Amino acid sequence: MNYYNSNTVVYLNGEFVKANEANTDLYGQSLHYGFAAFEGIRAYKTHNATRIFKAREHYERLKRSCDLTGIPFNWDIDDLIKQTYRLLELNNLKDAYIRPLVFSEPQMTLIAPEKTSIMLCAWEWGAYLGDRQLKVCISSFERPNPKSTKIEAKISGNYVNSILATTDAKNRGFDEALLLDANGFVAEAPGANIFIEKNGKLYTPTKGNILPGITRATIIELCRVLDIEVIEKEITLDFLKSADGAFLCGTAAEVVGIHTVDETVFRQRWRDSIGATLQRAYKNLVLEKVNYEVII
Ligand code: PMP
Repeated sequence: MNYYNSNTVVYLNGEFVKANEANTDLYGQSLHYGFAAFEGIRAYKTHNATRIFKAREHYERLKRSCDLTGIPFNWDIDDLIKQTYRLLELNNLKDAYIRPLVFSEPQMTLIAPEKTSIMLCAWEWGAYLGDRQLKVCISSFERPNPKSTKIEAKISGNYVNSILATTDAKNRGFDEALLLDANGFVAEAPGANIFIEKNGKLYTPTKGNILPGITRATIIELCRVLDIEVIEKEITLDFLKSADGAFLCGTAAEVVGIHTVDETVFRQRWRDSIGATLQRAYKNLVLEKVNYEVII
């Protein structure tokens, strides 16, 4: 996968520069210790124009991730949104994945940095987990204990856990991992949240041990519009395995059905599931194909 070529432009600290000419310092905490905050945002080519889905929510979460961890964030969110649209234009991207990253100044101690940089880059990316139903395995890795990190912050260091879990799942012949939290309840996938369907209702893990996804919030809002009951609760593995179906959701993954968890195959056909309805509704929403009664 080529993320950039000789024409690609990135935004770095207020300027647009060629990706292959931009550089950064090698003596920083972000590279050495994973002390950085980032976002994953999607832009869609809608019939209106190219639209960045939930741009404000993503930049607000970026700021929150920084605030939670003491990473200085001194940028104006409206300006960042404007620069992101400019970035897409300059790179001639319409359907794109956008990656903002806040990283530290050169500094090798274990004290939070006083100065940070921001970079925005974008590339074309299909649905991250593909569009067929997934075979997932319960990972031998747990999500980080919220007492050992800021689990609600999207910070780079937390993704060591994600990389270990996904790589292990792939090595074991699965499409993706599903991680439990430190108390043994179902938490989330390495880069997506989970919803479980049982007897016509949806269930999703409570906040506290997960990254509170913007797609997760969007799905909950869509359920309100579509009159689908969603219950946030602690979910056991037995509950998951006895469910009718389940799906993952995230900005990169969008909405993708789960076929099996370990050896357990869900009874319900995906096309008959609430997940499939929400998959269509989500696609319509991001593509601005439907006018809902409420603004989500
Ligand atoms: N959990 C984790 C660990 C993630 O990395 C992501 C992707 N950002 C999500 C959940 C889904 O979050 P969102 O819907 O905001 O993309």
